[in-house]
Amino acid sequence: MIRTALYPGSFDPLTNGHIDILQAAFGLVDRVIVAVGRHPTKSGLLDIDKRIALIEEVAGPLAESSEVTLEVLSFDNLVVDLAQEVGATILIRGLRDGTDLDYEMQMVGMNRTMAHWLQTVFVPASPHHRHITATLVRQIAAMGGDIGPFVPASAADAVRVALAER
Ligand code: ADP
Repeated sequence: MIRTALYPGSFDPLTNGHIDILQAAFGLVDRVIVAVGRHPTKSGLLDIDKRIALIEEVAGPLAESSEVTLEVLSFDNLVVDLAQEVGATILIRGLRDGTDLDYEMQMVGMNRTMAHWLQTVFVPASPHHRHITATLVRQIAAMGGDIGPFVPASAADAVRVALAER
């Protein structure tokens, strides 16, 4: 039996924190689907195709060396519906702090009611990267700060280009 996990998020941009969580997921299952949420009104900083390309470029080789199948797609429907569509029985979420936990536990309750077959697995943030949020990365970059320590080099380049085009 092939175990598939779904890892949903905004990934605007992909950060070193996301990569930690992905590495953990690669050790748990055979197939990982990273799903980039399309927001109906907010367009974000990087366009969806760029976010997907960055994830494929950075996480692809890591998945390959873990012998895990990686697929990256976008979605705008319910996570539980997407999980069913792609055949995922595990939902991966990263936990940074108590705020993440409170929110995530609400989601677990709602998702469990809608889809009892979907098990949420929390991965604790690594001490080195638990402070990283994509929101702060975007804010720091917008104010001319160096985001190099928080994101892969290709993501930092993409953010720089996106800000210059604004
Ligand atoms: P953010 O909250 O940074 O905008 P996302 O919405 O893309 O990021 O988050 C997707 C998932 O990745 C969530 O489960 C979130 O908790 C997790 N995550 C984000 N940043 C980190 C981090 N630094 N360490 C661990 N998990 C993280």
